[in-house]
Amino acid sequence: MLHHERLRPPSDDYPADEWNVIEKRFHPEFLAQLETMLALGNGYLGMRGCPEEGGPNAENSTLINGFYETRPIVYAEEAYGFAKTGQTIFSVTDSKIIKLFVDDEPFWLPNANLLSYDRRLNMKSGTLDREILWETPAGKQVLITSRRLISFANRHVAAISYRVTLLNAAASLVISSEMAANDPSARINGDDPRQSKAFSGRVLHQRASYSKDRRIVLCHATEKSRLTLTCATDNAIESSCPHAYKVVHTEDFGQVAFTIEARPGCPIQLTKYMVYHTSQTASAEELYGRAEWTLDRVMNQGFQQLLASQEQYLDDFWRRSDVQVRDVREDRTKRSTVEIQQAIRFNLFHILQASARAEGTGVPAKGLTGQAYEGHYFWDTEIYLLPFLTYTSPRIARNLLTFRYKMLPQARARARQLGHRGAMFPWRTISGEEASAYYAAGTAQYHINADIMYALRKYVQATGDELFLRDCGAEMLVETARLWLDLGFYSDAKGGKFCINGVTGPDEYNAVVNNNAYTNLMARENLRYAARTVESLRVTEPAAYNALVRKTALEPSEVEAWNRAAENMYVPYDEKLKIIPQDDNFLEKEPWDFRNTPRDHYPLLLFYHPLNIYRKQVIKQADVVLAMFLLGNEFSLDAKKRNFEFYDPLTTGDSSLSSCVEAIIAGQIGDIEKAIRYGMAALLMDLADVGGNVRDGCHIASMGGTWMALTYGFGGMRDDDGTLSFWPHRAPEDNAILRFPLTYRGQMLQVEIGLEKVQYALREGECLVVRHETEEIQLTREHPLAVRAVSRR
Ligand code: BGC
Repeated sequence: MLHHERLRPPSDDYPADEWNVIEKRFHPEFLAQLETMLALGNGYLGMRGCPEEGGPNAENSTLINGFYETRPIVYAEEAYGFAKTGQTIFSVTDSKIIKLFVDDEPFWLPNANLLSYDRRLNMKSGTLDREILWETPAGKQVLITSRRLISFANRHVAAISYRVTLLNAAASLVISSEMAANDPSARINGDDPRQSKAFSGRVLHQRASYSKDRRIVLCHATEKSRLTLTCATDNAIESSCPHAYKVVHTEDFGQVAFTIEARPGCPIQLTKYMVYHTSQTASAEELYGRAEWTLDRVMNQGFQQLLASQEQYLDDFWRRSDVQVRDVREDRTKRSTVEIQQAIRFNLFHILQASARAEGTGVPAKGLTGQAYEGHYFWDTEIYLLPFLTYTSPRIARNLLTFRYKMLPQARARARQLGHRGAMFPWRTISGEEASAYYAAGTAQYHINADIMYALRKYVQATGDELFLRDCGAEMLVETARLWLDLGFYSDAKGGKFCINGVTGPDEYNAVVNNNAYTNLMARENLRYAARTVESLRVTEPAAYNALVRKTALEPSEVEAWNRAAENMYVPYDEKLKIIPQDDNFLEKEPWDFRNTPRDHYPLLLFYHPLNIYRKQVIKQADVVLAMFLLGNEFSLDAKKRNFEFYDPLTTGDSSLSSCVEAIIAGQIGDIEKAIRYGMAALLMDLADVGGNVRDGCHIASMGGTWMALTYGFGGMRDDDGTLSFWPHRAPEDNAILRFPLTYRGQMLQVEIGLEKVQYALREGECLVVRHETEEIQLTREHPLAVRAVSRR
């Protein structure tokens, strides 16, 4: 069900555009939402879309992925094994501030007389562009144009090109280029448990600060997590108007103030370069040395060069990733094709911004667009993001899986702490340690182990990266399979079947249950894949197998035990309803009183005690339905239909991770109306603030889910059995064409689904075999194109 479809009213102030997200008028009431939507990032560094002038801001965050401070998690009542240390991302030094004073009058958006205003997130160039015509109270017209970027090619670098031109009079200007650390306005503290909790007092402690000409370097470190940060800026000014500058710096502040005697029609061009370097090990001296090298290099290259490399990076990204929709008849909410296209690109662009240079880290649930969920990494990455990355940017997918591999020592230690064999990945973390303070909806989500292994399997299958499987994947498989074997048991009460009790599935509204179907099904898959991989290594790569045995002390009998547990896995089934019960008790629970739940009481988690929720038949997010998508070939269409029809009315969609999955299954069972409704909710989750909390950051998982809804959903893509196949629906609307590229085993395929026909084109590579429904098609360099009719189902 969809309870809170808050679609942004169509407005002239936000005109749709295929490549830009445009704001034509400054609306203070949408400040927070726009900060999120117009945020820039590259997976390492992120800045919310706050204006250069240092305000007004709702949450003026500058975030570095994996840069966090710790704090003790305080429980009213302690228990053994509770996570002890919280990890929280926080806003680091804000370097983007450029204040403007005309005849000593500050330019301040809320009270400025704006003759024109245009701000846009340009998804082709990867920039945030602004053009404003301001009339001062004295009638002087000032044209301000700026362009901000966070470089994809140089992940430590951001830059702003800022140009001021007086149009009708001369004036004395001050342009103050500033940086500020420990800014209290960047702190967030809300009652919503999904938001981050701010630290009180200073989080960054001074290590060094100095200036040279127009360059300022501020170096800080955190106290408990012991991370060091250097933020350095340099400023280049060009103008034929007379100008001078003064520099000031303190431990938390830096300022280069340019004074200019501006003549009409004579532009003043300031280019600000911003560099961030962080480290767990390097000294302050070493870090500011690095920052200076980086600054020297980019200043030498100049803004145009940075921009050119940004555009090139994005060209390449879109070539591999762009999903295009053409001529879709307007849907019920009257959104045109352009708006749909804009929303698709907006989603894909933000995924790139969240993940491109996430090297040695994961992807936070909000990317780097806000502090909510504390910058933590969840299963969102593996189940919702990796499909897109695997099929468009496999290198990024590999980096993210490598990051999980590096987390194995902590995952092993955590398993030991909970009395388990094997490894137990944290439900939420930055450092690799479990950081969930509420175990019932946190640590109990053991399924994350299987989720990571699922993503590994899909990655290896799509890329053919057997080396990764051999060198990293196999070890994770052994340890996760061990965990399942240790956690589950053969239950007499269930006819000797292998049961897994006391876990929470993806649906956090039914916590600590026995035999959560999703968990059992995914654990089965994990066990099977582990057994298959180890067996195949033993036969084909004895040296690697021996190394694995040494690393993990693997006994041959273990593999047999995994196979046996998988074969005997208990999967609940209700004969009467002919559905898979979500867990052992779900069907016995009292139904939730939806009729008397006010519409504004969603998400339920903000209005009802967990106990009230846990004892009722109500679901936060797709659970069984998700399993039916992920393990699609294990269920008949009939089974999908029955389960979807049973669970859909009970699913609140209180998590943004739900709509995209429901869209896919609705499409598969032929409920096109629901497929579109859910698909639109996922697509517009952030751009139209469907969940009402976009102010806190983008829903990166739903963004990845949008891609899945388009490709696996409408595109009918399947990858369950080692060959890519497509069962495209007849396009849901008249005149619809859906086109998307896929990178598969180093080659690039383009699929185009039209009203009557589907085209498969081999864009890069020699030879690729795909299936159109059940028919095998061989695409070669000589015959790169195949056309098939869409079957009418
Ligand atoms: C969802 C989780 C998700 C988390 C972060 C929660 O509301 O229930 O499944 O991992 O948000 O996105």
